Amino acid sequence: MTYRKKKNSDTWHWCTNCSKWPTSDYDTSYSKPSSGELCNECKAKQSAGTCKN
Ligand SMILES: [Zn+2]
Repeated sequence: MTYRKKKNSDTWHWCTNCSKWPTSDYDTSYSKPSSGELCNECKAKQSAGTCKN
């Protein structure tokens, strides 16, 4: 799973269909980030089974 975080933001996203999925100016992490926040929308999509990676 790939995590993306917009630069100057503390929120990590991992669902490519998240409305806030960063497409430019982002940092990438290939493992679960140890710092920062996890996106609530991505969490909701994962719970609902609609998270696309
Ligand atoms: Zn998100």
